[in-house]
Amino acid sequence: MVTMEKIVSLAKRRGFIYPSCEIYGGLANAYSYGPYGVELKNNIKKLWWKTFVHQREDMVGLDGPIILHPKLWEASGHTTGFNDAMVDCKKCNKRFRADHLVSDVIDKDLEGELEKMDNVLKEKKVKCPDCGASDWTKVRNFNMMFKTEMNGIEGDIYLRPETAGAIFVDFKNIVDSMRVKLPFGIAQIGKAFRNEIVAGNFIFRTREFEQMEIEYFIDPETKWEPLFEKWLELQEEFTMALGAKKEDMRRYEHPKEKLSHYSKKTVDIEYKFPFGFSELYGLAHRGDFDLSQHSKASGQRLEYFDAENDKRYIPHVLEPTFGLDRSLLVSLISAYNEEEIKEGKRIVMRFPKGIAPVQVAVFPLLRNKPELVKKAKEIYDDLKTEFVCEFDDNGNIGKRYRRQDEIGTPYCITVDFDSLEKDDLTIRDRDTMKQERVNIKELKDYLKEKIYEK
Ligand code: ATP
Repeated sequence: MVTMEKIVSLAKRRGFIYPSCEIYGGLANAYSYGPYGVELKNNIKKLWWKTFVHQREDMVGLDGPIILHPKLWEASGHTTGFNDAMVDCKKCNKRFRADHLVSDVIDKDLEGELEKMDNVLKEKKVKCPDCGASDWTKVRNFNMMFKTEMNGIEGDIYLRPETAGAIFVDFKNIVDSMRVKLPFGIAQIGKAFRNEIVAGNFIFRTREFEQMEIEYFIDPETKWEPLFEKWLELQEEFTMALGAKKEDMRRYEHPKEKLSHYSKKTVDIEYKFPFGFSELYGLAHRGDFDLSQHSKASGQRLEYFDAENDKRYIPHVLEPTFGLDRSLLVSLISAYNEEEIKEGKRIVMRFPKGIAPVQVAVFPLLRNKPELVKKAKEIYDDLKTEFVCEFDDNGNIGKRYRRQDEIGTPYCITVDFDSLEKDDLTIRDRDTMKQERVNIKELKDYLKEKIYEK
């Protein structure tokens, strides 16, 4: 069974993810993506961009700043409303998310209802997960935005807590500069910062993370339900493209009474992480809340003019949001396999071939035979212009296979003595472990077809 311990350990040992600043004792829940982690992350971003921007005619991209005008966060309600409920244990002084402590015992989401949370903590004698005491402070709201300062600007500046804000403030620029027609979407990938009360579960919840978000603008009079359903399906399909199984996903629809006043519907896509089902992605119908708020606060008309029907209106918006770090965690968990084989145990990361951090590894059969090394190097030099490749001549072939299996390399190529005569080589498939001889002239086409096949 795949556990978080196994994932965390493999991620560190094999250069996917390291705890950051370890030499200084580490900074709580901050991680660096190592050489294979950054390849995997870039591949997930590329897949997302290709799927939702390049392959669609109704989407455009944007890359807005992390530091945005402070008025944006007032208009969107973040300065007053972007809160989580926190509570401290009076005995050990540890801090917790009050809503999480409460939902563990009453299986109900009391988000925003601080007094009710106080009562549950008292009546159910909820224990501190750390020291076991049951002595709590009052539940308070905590604003999760990171504050900073900026030269030449009075007052607080924030690091964006989500990427979406940058999209709404450029809505007018996009409508004016691009020939977009409703319905259309704006997509963005970037960092977001939240001063989470409790971070944890590896890269599942950190204070600095990346999001891939879309604002999909629609005519308020269109039937939005089928579009909403389609977006949910696309989010699920994307999760499967990361390697997840359908049965490890489920939908959670936010109850009507919990929805923000402007939202018609909000659904989370949850994934079965080793620590239980938790939110992976979200989809919300946000009405015209954001554009209306920014119109009011800025005095600018953020409208869309529908020339065909001679109508002017503020569009409604559907917001599919994807956490990038959580996506990467799903890809690691889904890929992880331990298998008994003839030579012992192997750990194999069965990433979908298109997102594997290294696509092809090239080995000379023996490192002390210059003619084999030379030929293998030539092949490697040629392949690396089109694929992410690794050259390895260290240890016996079996060990080299194990190393590549652990980072999920779909194809390993070995140059042997026959290769010198016949101009062919052995390709070994990560999943089946079968070996095939392929002529060098056909190698690139062979790999392209295998790696990018659907
Ligand atoms: P949660 O309930 O887990 O705190 P949320 O509902 O606050 O998440 P959203 O505001 O909908 O999350 O953010 C959109 C997406 O961003 C989430 O679905 C998730 O994938 C990702 N995300 C949110 N907070 C974090 C975090 N602290 N660390 C990593 N990813 C995050």
